[in-house]
Amino acid sequence: MEALTKCFSCGAETEKVNGPTHKYLLSTPGCWARYGEVLAREYSDFRYMAVHDLTVDAYSIQHPGQPNPQTINSLNIHLASLYAFFELGLRSSELSEFKQKLAKQKPRFRWMETPLKVGQYNINDVWGTDTPEAHQEMVKRWAEDAFRQWHAYSANIAAIAKIAC
Ligand SMILES: [Zn+2]
Repeated sequence: MEALTKCFSCGAETEKVNGPTHKYLLSTPGCWARYGEVLAREYSDFRYMAVHDLTVDAYSIQHPGQPNPQTINSLNIHLASLYAFFELGLRSSELSEFKQKLAKQKPRFRWMETPLKVGQYNINDVWGTDTPEAHQEMVKRWAEDAFRQWHAYSANIAAIAKIAC
């Protein structure tokens, strides 16, 4: 049996592996590897790719890292993207353009403290699905649940999202 380890950011349990992690979206190597596998699945099939932006947004807000200009930018943009999807009715295929537009505005973003609970789902729940339909369904459930944990900042997130609308 391989030893299991829990991601200190999102709680996902994976095998204890040595490997790379992202420069500022802090996670265990095992969690980062799972995310890589999920992204590879999305890049390989348009039915998985349909929810790609939500996958990136959800993973990013569950791994916000430490406050610095890059993480502040990332956190604000990914939260605004999820707000646009769940509250403003943008489609998943419109989120990439939305985020580019928002980044170009260079608004004055501020750091938001990570909620005590990151949500009840993580990358493992998506990784464990076996059909495109189940993948899409799970990504949406994961993204919405993770997004709702940031409700203390909803007015701030709404104001940011409006910049790009
Ligand atoms: Zn993680």
